[in-house]
Amino acid sequence: MAGPGWGPPRLDGFILTERLGSGTYATVYKAYAKKDTREVVAIKCVAKKSLNKASVENLLTEIRILKDIRHPHIVELRDFQWDSDNIYLIMEFCAGGDLSRFIHARRILPEKVARVFMQQLASALQFLHERNISHLDLKPQNILLSSLEKPHLKLADFGFAQHMSPWDEKHVLRGSPLYMAPEMVCRRHYDARVDLWSVGVILYEALFGQPPFASRSFSELEDKIRSDRVIELPLRPPLSPDCRDLLTRLLARDPARRISFRDFFAHPWVDLEHMPSGESLGPGALVVQAVQKDQEGDAAGALSLYCRALDFFVPALHYEVDAQRKEVIKAKVGQYVSRAEELKAVVASSNQALLGQAATGRDLLREMARDKPRLLAALDVASAAMAKEEDAGGEQDALDLYQQSLGELLLLLAAEPAGRRRELLHAEVQSLMARAEYLKERTKMKESPWGSDSLDREGLAESVRTMCTLQ
Ligand code: ADP
Ligand code: MG
Repeated sequence: MAGPGWGPPRLDGFILTERLGSGTYATVYKAYAKKDTREVVAIKCVAKKSLNKASVENLLTEIRILKDIRHPHIVELRDFQWDSDNIYLIMEFCAGGDLSRFIHARRILPEKVARVFMQQLASALQFLHERNISHLDLKPQNILLSSLEKPHLKLADFGFAQHMSPWDEKHVLRGSPLYMAPEMVCRRHYDARVDLWSVGVILYEALFGQPPFASRSFSELEDKIRSDRVIELPLRPPLSPDCRDLLTRLLARDPARRISFRDFFAHPWVDLEHMPSGESLGPGALVVQAVQKDQEGDAAGALSLYCRALDFFVPALHYEVDAQRKEVIKAKVGQYVSRAEELKAVVASSNQALLGQAATGRDLLREMARDKPRLLAALDVASAAMAKEEDAGGEQDALDLYQQSLGELLLLLAAEPAGRRRELLHAEVQSLMARAEYLKERTKMKESPWGSDSLDREGLAESVRTMCTLQ
């Protein structure tokens, strides 16, 4: 591939067009899929040589994890490719530019607007925090807007910083010290809490128009970073006391005195609890519910809950740095995976049994429906649904057909006089409803890498082995 300045690189399946931006590690291009959809995407090209040694492999594992992450305020990573020089990340395109441009075009943001943005950012960070993922390079340039008409924040550019130390081989600082926590610059010893400092800087810049350490020269900047003076907030514009309180607590130089993640998410000015979110249950609650369903004998329900919990724990295991906590998560993951495997077998076999029972009754019902063309037609639609279910990728069609036949069968059942035919029809409706329910669960689980068919028992075990051997 040609280097920077030589125009966009070539990539299978896409037409790369204008350059959208370049940041600390990469250049991002707008691109179109060559396929019929002509879908617009953003493609980020990361030069392998900018990565730490031995980190390419690890990075690829991580990209696989990030690919399974879905959150309304996190830029979606759709796919990735690589060649000898670069790694290409194919992402959702954000048409609204980045937060830096948004703020500076308006000079400052009113507190109300800043609050909405902060809630969106906090919900993305909470989602990542539950999975042990730190950003480590939070700044307005890494926060994108879905569109300008209806701006919606999308957190971008994370999961890399841990492979790229803020200091390069020549001890030159990479990235912007304006947003880096003082301990990252001065002590070179830092943890996830640096993200909270950066959130404070971003909020400060949104409200006052420039970051707290804005300086005219590098030495002035260095002095401000190294100083131990408390960050003072300008008196104008006037802000609510809650907002000032949050800012001051985020911008505590000493990470031990900085607001904790928990208190940040619960802070009255952020108030995440009252923000509508996709996944309302945390990993702990999901496991509690799974165990409960399991005890009640609802294998399919328990399986789906275990899979949703694993969606949390698998990235959490990968990103955990503390050896002891890693062992704890590893043990939990192992336990949930083996129970999920057992449940998978139970669900499959009970489903088989249900099918066998229904088949006899179904034949009889058909016999007795000879003089009822409407009933026969509805039963035909149900058979078509069952046949579709066997097809690879036919789940959605099957569900539609189930719904169609059930709608008709329920009407017929209501009009059916008491007798043997009514009993059979009733049983058939119940069995079809159970089928459709099961199919719905399966489609839901497909969206999770732990429930997908491609991850069969061996695949599942293999993934866990890989996860558990990761350093
Ligand atoms: P780096 O790792 O080099 O900092 P980023 O992911 O931050 O790369 O991207 C650099 C810039 O490219 C961003 O600041 C933004 O302006 C633009 N950009 C990145 N991703 C997208 C996207 N998905 N949609 C639109 N623009 C993007
Ligand atoms: Mg960036």
